[in-house]
Amino acid sequence: MRVPPELTRARQTLPAPLLDVLRRLGDAGHRSWIVGGAVRDLLLHRPREAADFDLATPATPQEVTALFPKVVPTGIEHGTVTVVSGGFAIEVTTFRGEGPYVDGRRPESVTFHRDLASDLERRDFTMNALAWDPLADDFQDPHGGRADMGKRIVRAVGDPAERFAEDGLRPMRAVRFAAQLGYDLAPATRRAIPGAIPVVARVATERISEELSRLVVAPDAPRAIFLMRTTRLLEAVLPAFAALPVQAQDHAALVVGHLPSDPALRFAGLLHPLGADAVEQVLEGLRQPRRVSDEAAALVRAHACRLGAPGPVLPPSPVHVRRWLSAAGPGRGSGLLALAKAEVAALPAREVPAAQAEVQELQAALAQMALDRPALTPQELALDGRRAMEVLGVPPGPQVGEAIRHLLDRVLDDPELNRREALEDELRRWWAERARGG
Ligand code: ATP
Ligand code: MG
Repeated sequence: MRVPPELTRARQTLPAPLLDVLRRLGDAGHRSWIVGGAVRDLLLHRPREAADFDLATPATPQEVTALFPKVVPTGIEHGTVTVVSGGFAIEVTTFRGEGPYVDGRRPESVTFHRDLASDLERRDFTMNALAWDPLADDFQDPHGGRADMGKRIVRAVGDPAERFAEDGLRPMRAVRFAAQLGYDLAPATRRAIPGAIPVVARVATERISEELSRLVVAPDAPRAIFLMRTTRLLEAVLPAFAALPVQAQDHAALVVGHLPSDPALRFAGLLHPLGADAVEQVLEGLRQPRRVSDEAAALVRAHACRLGAPGPVLPPSPVHVRRWLSAAGPGRGSGLLALAKAEVAALPAREVPAAQAEVQELQAALAQMALDRPALTPQELALDGRRAMEVLGVPPGPQVGEAIRHLLDRVLDDPELNRREALEDELRRWWAERARGG
């Protein structure tokens, strides 16, 4: 097949070690191909890790291993070895068709086909079933992947219902690619997802969760969330969120679309209608990394004074802003501001001006605080626990923590108080008052 001009142009940019590996395989009689996502992303001019090229070859893993000095058997049971060459790690996989699926995920037996066509046939989507041989200048696109990319659709290779029944991760991959590329699902591909939900439910949580984190940080995450709702994937992988009223789901999806592409921030935006404790539970249940679940929950907790809620919305005065940020954790100012801005952007147009004014006030207050640097944590007080014990003449104990909390509380009200003598005076006053039972 004629090589698309995008690939011809990309030919010069291919890393030399990759071409060397292809050449050496070819010279040994195993004509090999760049396949899958690397070809797709080159066609889309999408930046990709230089090392992230997959090769498909008719050579067996043993034959590949014999040809190169440094080969790691990274997935030998699936026919994959990694050739390490010139600082690159290149995955080389023997052509394969597939045996029957047992657990809805892993082929029980991988049969090695000495044939590119059947290798491409077992791939998930037409845009991923592409192969390019840059040495012979040949391109294979038997399922019309390039045309689908032109139409901006994700289409399963072959019969979508069958393909999803074989591997329950594929529906998640479909919506993830839609979010990354801003594509739609082909109608038949979309219609096949609801029927595959039981298969999706059998996939390991970690794998589902990996797709979720990739789609949530993708440029068009809201699209994936809407697609997941209409295909019932949402009920299968995020049941707590799927149980929210539709308006709350729509609102959350919009908020996500206005946030910077950070996992904790995006998950916070997506799940904030559930409240902080549920956010933590959901993300822990998905076995997201601890720092992501903790951070997302902390952001949602501090975001509780959210826009659109009745009563006081954002912290109005400098004192409130200091208290709020101290409780949230001083490092979270920019994340919380991003959440507030996204929340405003997701509001109905008539509510935007008022809310926007509030967020601007908050932004100004945070900027001023960054200049003034008032103490927001016990560590920033001009008096530490050791000195507090000296001043009060008390041994270590709970009253020391109580003393420090009191001082921080006073300093949050009045940052000027954060000088050693002033804090010592305040400490004595507090202690005397406490002794009087005040
Ligand atoms: P990215 O790395 O950006 O996620 P990718 O297309 O490289 O995209 P990988 O998961 O690295 O995705 O897989 C490489 C290739 O293997 C895919 O392009 C596709 O051809 C094939 N593939 C991966 N997962 C599956 C699957 N679950 N079912 C069928 N084919 C798959
Ligand atoms: Mg990849």
